[in-house]
Amino acid sequence: MKFADLHLHTQFSDGTFTPEELVLHAQQNSLSCIALTDHDTVEGCARAAAAAAPVKMEFIPGAELTAQHEDTEVHILGYFLDIHNEVLLNRLAKFQADRQNRIHAMVAALNKLGVPLKAESVFALANCKSPGRPHVARTLVKEKLIGSLDEAFDRFLKKGKPAWVPKTKMSAVEGVQLIHQAGGLAVMAHPGLNRTDDIIPALVEAGLDGIECFHTKHSTAMSEHYLEIADKYNLLVTGGSDCHGYSKARPLIGTVRLPYDHVEKLKAKIAARKKPVAAQ
Ligand code: AMP
Ligand code: FE
Ligand code: FE
Ligand code: ZN
Repeated sequence: MKFADLHLHTQFSDGTFTPEELVLHAQQNSLSCIALTDHDTVEGCARAAAAAAPVKMEFIPGAELTAQHEDTEVHILGYFLDIHNEVLLNRLAKFQADRQNRIHAMVAALNKLGVPLKAESVFALANCKSPGRPHVARTLVKEKLIGSLDEAFDRFLKKGKPAWVPKTKMSAVEGVQLIHQAGGLAVMAHPGLNRTDDIIPALVEAGLDGIECFHTKHSTAMSEHYLEIADKYNLLVTGGSDCHGYSKARPLIGTVRLPYDHVEKLKAKIAARKKPVAAQ
């Protein structure tokens, strides 16, 4: 049987793998198909596609957009994106600039607390356009300003802690539309993590294509619950490990294995969208 992992990060956002290392790990885990879904960027997709082709691994270009619906943060996964789509790239560039400004704001807050971190050190470690809190945490650990990544989040970076800075987000409806105009399918990420059930009808109305039923942090009961929701709203089913490489104790890739027939269904929806309407 063939399996896929449709939720993966690289160094182009907050993962530790290069796109080439990601493909290698996917091979070692006997996956037939992977999607790259870095936060607010598609920069790693070209290299991942180039690494996947010679080893006959199917590659789906994607991204994980940070969005919100009313006061709830929601992550929208985009699959089969045209990574050269100008509207998408321009919009992402704005969010990347906001993320970079946010690093300066977090560092300023830490400095105020007496933590002598420099923004340049965070940017040097991140070495990507879409930096975030994990890069601040890793730099704090690297410079021995704190004991562990968890401590960095618990003391400073979690929502409500003194160096937490909110992120600019697009609306979830805009996220769905942005993905669609770039030729992609829009999928709600890890709904069990954000407890976003009540916003599902509005996103279905906006054209949501699927829902991530299988995720590392979903219990079996949660996955079953979202499979029922997928059924109720006629949504496609996806799943992935949300692997960030070695930023967690061990790479999560391979721990969530999505049966390949779900990928076939995603591809059928994309193909149906592209098919010209038959002449009457
Ligand atoms: P950001 O997009 O900059 O707000 O960072 C969000 C990312 O931080 C998530 O995708 C996780 O990878 C990571 N993260 C969030 N909370 C924690 C935590 N408590 N410990 C470690 N990593 C975390
Ligand atoms: Fe992340
Ligand atoms: Fe997410
Ligand atoms: Zn993710």
